[in-house]
Amino acid sequence: MANARVLNDLPVAIVGGGFSGTLLAIHLARRGARVVIVERDPQALAHGLAYGACGPQHLLNVRAGNMSAFPDDPGHFLRWLGLAEADAANHFATRASYGAYLASLLATARAMMPDRIAIAIAAAQGLVPQADGTLRLALDNGASLHARAVVLAQGNLPPQRHRALAGFEPPQVLPDPWAPGALDAIAPDARVLLVGTGLTAIDVIQSLQARGHKGPILALSRRGLVPRAHADNGPTVTPQPMPTARGSALLRQIRARARDVGWRHAIDELRPHTHALWQAHDATAQARFLRHARPWWDVHRHRMAPAIAQRIAALRTEGRLTVVAGNLQAVERRSDGSLVAQWRTRRDAQTVTRALDHVVVCTGPGGDPTQSRDPLLRALLTAGHARPCPLRLGLDVDGHWRLRDGAGRSALPIHAMGALSKGLNWEMVAVPDIRLQAQRLAEYLTPVREAVAA
Ligand SMILES: Cc1cc2nc3c(=O)[nH]c(=O)nc-3n(C[C@H](O)[C@H](O)[C@H](O)COP(=O)(O)OP(=O)(O)OC[C@H]3O[C@@H](n4cnc5c(N)ncnc54)[C@H](O)[C@@H]3O)c2cc1C
Repeated sequence: MANARVLNDLPVAIVGGGFSGTLLAIHLARRGARVVIVERDPQALAHGLAYGACGPQHLLNVRAGNMSAFPDDPGHFLRWLGLAEADAANHFATRASYGAYLASLLATARAMMPDRIAIAIAAAQGLVPQADGTLRLALDNGASLHARAVVLAQGNLPPQRHRALAGFEPPQVLPDPWAPGALDAIAPDARVLLVGTGLTAIDVIQSLQARGHKGPILALSRRGLVPRAHADNGPTVTPQPMPTARGSALLRQIRARARDVGWRHAIDELRPHTHALWQAHDATAQARFLRHARPWWDVHRHRMAPAIAQRIAALRTEGRLTVVAGNLQAVERRSDGSLVAQWRTRRDAQTVTRALDHVVVCTGPGGDPTQSRDPLLRALLTAGHARPCPLRLGLDVDGHWRLRDGAGRSALPIHAMGALSKGLNWEMVAVPDIRLQAQRLAEYLTPVREAVAA
């Protein structure tokens, strides 16, 4: 084992420089630790996937008043925007402005602590545990980093491929709407099918509209559920004790509460308890929730800004956007090169066909790390240093988000955060949850504060 002094001299390596990696780096540096952020895409540094390449039409789906990067300073983002807390809490800022906020936080932290935050622009692709308990992280530029701990902050896993879309390639079928330039090939009058009706589909619809799209858009998902809108004002939730009911009794209780105080209020009250409620259910009950209740939970919990909801409603009223509940069964290519999609409707099991020009996969992030093409994840799984969590919601981690190896032991100082750690907490995808995780993980990795905070 390396002695404590040697360990303290080694940095923590953070793979991924999006919101999660950036915030963890800032907290660790403030606690005196050295960190290296390894980010494969220089444009994504600090911004990550969500707050990088987005237009003015893309608004945050959380009120600015709840988007501070720091859990103990709720007004931080509002102050950065130059807005007064009293009249701006209900403001929905642009995602681009949030990216600029994160970039400024990282730049300030690096300026104040230049010897503590280093950045390596490279993809991490392998990891070799050392005999003394430290780790060596291999990068795709041939370099390697010697670290006391590694944190995987790699964001969402790519969406799962729909079996009806096997064999199709871009630009006709677009498996990843976030890929740079993914929508460029869609002509303004093209007929577009979106597979999925959640927040990803809402984003794609807005991106198409911003490009002057005039053709019909059809959005299809099994239940045809679309995210609900935030209220114009709120939330004003009085803290409630954690519900004692579990499983279907808990769902009944939430419905009853929604009748009394409104559904938004009933869902928002649960937020402080979501992680504990998830952990209070065993894997069978969690799987049942994912199978039956997840689509409803998602559309009520992850809402659209009111302005976006109005735009979507207008498109539906004008007949430019149609939302359908049904099961996509097949997509075929016709001799003229266009596509025909066939689905079975949910309501009356009718088979419907429709001619199309493009299909965009909007089913949202995948959860199964064994399906990932990321070289580092693959190397960790192959070597048995990591395993998927039982429900395939990212990696199996212990209570400190430390990876469990193939035998279920937390043997190496490798941690996962953000979406890769959803199995433990379920809700670990949005800023209000991840900002707390970044703070707690930094505390865990630096149990003795190594220097006075900068
Ligand atoms: C379109 C969109 C909008 C969203 N809007 C909101 C919102 O309004 N409010 C909210 O609270 N949440 C929102 N979210 C949730 C969002 O996921 C979180 O807020 C947060 O941005 C997640 O950050 P992350 O750092 O975990 O992941 P990411 O932002 O995906 O960052 C991961 C980074 O890791 C890098 N990386 C991956 N693998 C490697 C490797 N092997 N080597 C080197 N680098 C690697 C990637 O290049 C990427 O930059 C949104 C998400 C999306 C996708």
